[in-house]
Amino acid sequence: MAEIYDVIVIGGGPAGYVAAIRASQLGLKTACVEKWINKQDKPALGGTCLNVGCIPSKALLESTELYETACHQFKDLGINVGEVTLDVPRMIERKDQVVMELTGGIAMLFKQNGVDWLQGEGQLLADRQVKVTALDGKETVYDSKNVVIATGSVPIDLSVTPLNGDIVVESAGALDWESVPGSVCVIGAGVIGLELGSVWRRMGSRVVLLEAMDTFLPMVDKAIAREAQRAFTKQGLDIRLSTRVMGSKVNHGKVAVTFKDGEGDHEETFDKLIVAVGRRAFTDNVCSSEADVLQDERGLFHVNEFCETNVPHVYAIGDVVRGPMLAHKGSEEGVMVAERIAGEESSVNYDVMPNVIYTHPEVAWVGKTEEQVKSEGIDYQVGSFPFAASGRAKAKGDTTGMVKIVRDRKSDRILGAHIIGPSASELLAQTVLAMEFDATTEDIAHTIHAHPTLSEAVHEAALSADGRAIHIGNRKRG
Ligand code: FAD
Ligand code: NAD
Repeated sequence: MAEIYDVIVIGGGPAGYVAAIRASQLGLKTACVEKWINKQDKPALGGTCLNVGCIPSKALLESTELYETACHQFKDLGINVGEVTLDVPRMIERKDQVVMELTGGIAMLFKQNGVDWLQGEGQLLADRQVKVTALDGKETVYDSKNVVIATGSVPIDLSVTPLNGDIVVESAGALDWESVPGSVCVIGAGVIGLELGSVWRRMGSRVVLLEAMDTFLPMVDKAIAREAQRAFTKQGLDIRLSTRVMGSKVNHGKVAVTFKDGEGDHEETFDKLIVAVGRRAFTDNVCSSEADVLQDERGLFHVNEFCETNVPHVYAIGDVVRGPMLAHKGSEEGVMVAERIAGEESSVNYDVMPNVIYTHPEVAWVGKTEEQVKSEGIDYQVGSFPFAASGRAKAKGDTTGMVKIVRDRKSDRILGAHIIGPSASELLAQTVLAMEFDATTEDIAHTIHAHPTLSEAVHEAALSADGRAIHIGNRKRG
């Protein structure tokens, strides 16, 4: 029998590594089991988020947005440059460097905090024992007082469009192409479809998104989703709703995709196909049957609000449990679980969970949409402000979008904030903070915002809820 730990975390993604670091900070003897092997064939921490998700996609979004600005906006801004050209291999290399530095940083944080990284595959046995199968196949069983399952998620496969590692890929494959495909088809106009579709469109690919649903971004406030669809379509993303993909066939280095829409059956040929139809919890073989941890029909572990499973001292966090599949959601659950194990009162405020789509314009929201509050029968009002009326957005030459705040008419509490526009991801943070502190739109209205900043648009949206915005004609709504 190997060492006894206070906490063993299985999975070293943003949920698991954060739980492990926080547990160790609180004086608990902690290990984290992680099996990831990276592109360089080396064990790596950071999970989906750091290796093939949030971070590499944002590195490519950043490079390609600058490329697009240089190609199409510099002239307008009074900057003449020579011919702007792409170096895709360098772009991918930079993305890989960012990933390596950040994943290496987690390994360093483990060392500094005294977290043991057990490299290999973990499996929960009965009585909180964890079997770790090392990369060389050697098995060791560890005892732990508490176990946290954080094994994340993997892409959902479509049986009719099998992946082939190069032409038909899921999101990770589309982060590594070293030349620009002439055409890219994406199945799924969700978050990944829009972010990666934007990356390759900006580099010059013709991008078609085939979406099964008849509504674009159904989880987003309708007015914001409408604006987003308009902006992305104008940029050249070909978004086709109510479209059912029937199959794909790879032939002579291309892929023929067959699909059905309101007008009948079609076949179109593309250079690449990205399957981005959602992700599923990864729980294969994570628990032995003796561990007796309950899962639902989709594989998610049953947990309560504190991420406790049905087995005492066994917790599950991140993409393997209910709620949105977001890195920060998993990390907050990791902190909560570590603190509760250490005897602290800790919780996650699931009602105030920020969401961002990192396209340009960015789409960001927190809390309830106008449609949700309406259907719940809440007496509400809306305040909004377009970036076209923002001095800073004008100066930047980036005026698409708006800020929209939904408030409770009686209490003035903020029920939701919805932003499409420049730096929406950063602007959202002040509304998240306001909601966390139970602030009212009056509190935002009273807060002095520096001029000229994009954040003034949030200020003006709050003022507009009361018909007091200065830089637009006011019209009380709701
Ligand atoms: P993961 O990050 O999936 O980590 C789980 C880890 O567990 C993995 O490293 C895996 O190797 C390990 N593991 C699994 N089984 C075992 C086992 N038996 N033993 C040992 N180790 C095991 N979210 C955002 O919030 N913002 C974004 O911008 C964003 N962008 C994304 C872009 C893309 C392309 C993708 C695919 C996802 C993106 N996400 C984003 C989602 C985000 O990556 C996930 O929500 C997040 O990574 C979930 O964290 P997690 O720790 O639960 O799981
Ligand atoms: P998603 O749920 O956002 O989008 C999948 C889309 O595919 C949906 O619109 C769905 O209707 C559609 N779809 C499903 N089956 C289909 C089919 N057979 N044919 C056509 N369309 C189909 O999922 P995703 O984009 O794959 O992302 C997975 C997860 O990763 C999401 O839950 C998201 O939270 C997370 N993620 C987050 C970010 C971010 O926070 N910026 C970025 C990327 C991914």
